[in-house]
Amino acid sequence: MLILNGYEYKVLYRTEDKSYWRCKEIDKLHCKARLMTTGRVLNVKTSVGHNHQPTFAGSYDQCTFQKLKVYYMTHFQGLVYFYDSKRKHPMLMFNNYEYKSNNQCKGKSYWRCKVVDGRACRAKLMTSGKCLCVKTSEMHNHPPTFDGNYEVCKAQTLNVRYMSSFRKK
Ligand SMILES: [Zn+2]
Ligand SMILES: [Zn+2]
Repeated sequence: MLILNGYEYKVLYRTEDKSYWRCKEIDKLHCKARLMTTGRVLNVKTSVGHNHQPTFAGSYDQCTFQKLKVYYMTHFQGLVYFYDSKRKHPMLMFNNYEYKSNNQCKGKSYWRCKVVDGRACRAKLMTSGKCLCVKTSEMHNHPPTFDGNYEVCKAQTLNVRYMSSFRKK
């Protein structure tokens, strides 16, 4: 758990160097407040605030303090790379995992991890305009696949969202 300004957060998703946190009232009150921590930096998303009073009523005795640099931003952004594979599939690389285009529908592109045979990885992404959505219910079951050839890639900064399903409620 993480406490900031009297609000408690729980980890939703971790990547190699970042942790994404949601307000612990995500289930009960559908609070959309979120944070991202990376190294000694804490990023607070300002476009969605809490819809309730601070939740922390316990004692700070059980907590460990960490001094982090706090930044306020409207979106979390991530660098996403696009390129074509030898077989001319559009490919996407994010956090050193590679994805190939799966299908496109109504302005949205769906991507799945290129490791589909053998380990049958089910990790998926969806891109739509300036947004990249990462499905958190299916994680990679293997180490990153990207071997570091950034030369063929086109980098784009997209707003990254983590969600359990691509379908809107
Ligand atoms: Zn909240
Ligand atoms: Zn995978």
